[in-house]
Amino acid sequence: MIFGKNYLIWDLDDTLYNKTEEFADILDTTMAKALVEDLKLPMDFETAKQKVTESYKIYRDGGEVFYRDYGVKPRDLFKAYHFRKPVEKIVPYDNLLEKIEKVPAEQYIFTASDRYASEKILKHLGIYEFFKDRYYSVEDFGVYKKNESSEVYRQYCEKIGVDPTDCVFVDDSYSNLEFAKEIGMTTVRIYYRNNSAKDKTYIDYAYKGVLSFLDDVIKP
Ligand SMILES: [Mg+2]
Repeated sequence: MIFGKNYLIWDLDDTLYNKTEEFADILDTTMAKALVEDLKLPMDFETAKQKVTESYKIYRDGGEVFYRDYGVKPRDLFKAYHFRKPVEKIVPYDNLLEKIEKVPAEQYIFTASDRYASEKILKHLGIYEFFKDRYYSVEDFGVYKKNESSEVYRQYCEKIGVDPTDCVFVDDSYSNLEFAKEIGMTTVRIYYRNNSAKDKTYIDYAYKGVLSFLDDVIKP
């Protein structure tokens, strides 16, 4: 058990690896290319990239401005972006699998990446075999985000057959934790520079980087 719960559900992106500033910039480039080259948005690449970066700052979602102002369909960008996602540029943590294997809880992943990209990421991080039958994407629930309502968290728990109050949910993005908390999960936020969400009452625990969380829950 961890924090008195039997199940642990992980976010994947920016939680089980660290998104460096350099990688964040590469992702903005990737999204701009998907918009201009794949979805044929009538905009030059530089402008598109600038808007992706702005959109991320305002909405925590690089695509939001394009859904709102340019008629881009979330599903189209979701697929094009994830197909291009440069997974090979992620720097995996050392000994991640070894630590995960020691966590005294049954573990799952719930990711906002699509199935294609999440399989590649899990393989790249060396944890695919461990999570093979225990990872789900938002697309498995017919949505493209997990910070819009608690409904998708309820459906997730139903799918894996667990009671939300018996789950710990770990995510770097606090807007997701709000909905996990709403259905009774225990919430853990992974932050990097500083704990910017200290005031949020729906966050039960916060750790600087996932390794400090893992080291804490696996310590004898
Ligand atoms: Mg994340």
